[in-house]
Amino acid sequence: MSHSPIWHPFTQHGLGEPIPEVARAEDAELHLADGATVIDAISSWWVTTHGHAHPRIAAAIAEQAARLDQIIFAGWTHEPAERLAVGLRAIMPDNLTRVFFSDSGSTSVEVALKMALGYWRNRGEPRERIVVMDNGYHGDTIGTMSVGARGAFNRAYEPLLFDVTSIPFPHEDAEQATLDALEAACRDGAAAFIVEPLVLGAGGMLVYGAETLAEMRRICASHGTLFIADEVMTGWGRTGTLLACEQAGVEPDILCLSKGLTGGAIPLAVTMASEAVYQAHYAPDRSRMFFHSSSYTANPIACAAACANLDIWREEPVAERIALLAERQAARLADLARHPLIRNPRRIGTIAAFDVGDAQGYLSDLAPRMLAMFRERDVLLRPLGNTVYVMPPYCTTSDQLDAVFATVREVCEIVERST
Ligand SMILES: *Cc1c(COP(=O)(O)O)cnc(C)c1O
Repeated sequence: MSHSPIWHPFTQHGLGEPIPEVARAEDAELHLADGATVIDAISSWWVTTHGHAHPRIAAAIAEQAARLDQIIFAGWTHEPAERLAVGLRAIMPDNLTRVFFSDSGSTSVEVALKMALGYWRNRGEPRERIVVMDNGYHGDTIGTMSVGARGAFNRAYEPLLFDVTSIPFPHEDAEQATLDALEAACRDGAAAFIVEPLVLGAGGMLVYGAETLAEMRRICASHGTLFIADEVMTGWGRTGTLLACEQAGVEPDILCLSKGLTGGAIPLAVTMASEAVYQAHYAPDRSRMFFHSSSYTANPIACAAACANLDIWREEPVAERIALLAERQAARLADLARHPLIRNPRRIGTIAAFDVGDAQGYLSDLAPRMLAMFRERDVLLRPLGNTVYVMPPYCTTSDQLDAVFATVREVCEIVERST
């Protein structure tokens, strides 16, 4: 393994940690090359919604690959993209009339930011300031790092990051400070506010209320500040509803979707925009054209996978599976929360999170120690600092969830004995 030329993401090769090889995956299980079976309790980094290798998605990919694999999307179109766009229009907020394709969560956010700035410039009233929330995460490119939390992840690149206005996370009983800061930023003529609705993922699975989300949207609307919902993680049922925004009755001006769009099988992203954002770029000449594209924009194979995902949502009892998983997560978490080392247990939809012991930085060694212990016990969990979260695929069985929580309890007991 150490002879591999691969440079892995978020991996310090100098630590010599093992890098297991996965040969096959099915439902919530990973089958390793060495014969072990691992429970995927984080949906392969939050993307796998229905389960690995869903037969309908796999079949759609195979059929499309044999028919039309790739085609330039600037000035050309194809049936899977058209079908997907119409399908998204049917289930996403009514005001989002336009669908722009890209390839990842990060690019969907870059596109959203460019749309927002283009909107103001093309209207002849340039606004440039972007408002963000403390602890937010929107991707790892320079633009998305600029609107995300600053820290150990991006210190080396800080000179390249653009300036933003950051408002505090709406901690319980301190929501007003967040709303006041947003109001002030909007009054100063902010171009857009970007936020992860109801739960900040990479920032530590921090959950806040739907009333606050609704109020933030209202404040933006009253000042014309565009409201960008980054539902890259929260979309596709993660928080219990198709979109987290639904729980607050919020219709964003711009919506970012990626993880879960193809059921987690293949990369694809969309940025959906309101008619006003689209119309600001619409003209009888090329002057206001939206200058963004990548080679694989709206790749037909990926679009076919996403169409199969929409079919699954339409025809299979997805909402029931999510409700059942949420209920099971709630029961397991309530039980685990009695352990003296567990702090701040929190839950939304299919996500359960808690802190182990007291706050520690991302670079403390608790996270890698726990990661290694989970791996030795054949459970894929990847703590964020001392925050452990369970975010499994919707097909996860009661027995599999029991095994995950039993492992968490065992690891907590080892950590407790060693502190
Ligand atoms: C993962 C994530 C992104 C980035 O998506 P990638 O596909 O990894 O580029 C953006 N926003 C949120 C909220 C995410 O969780």
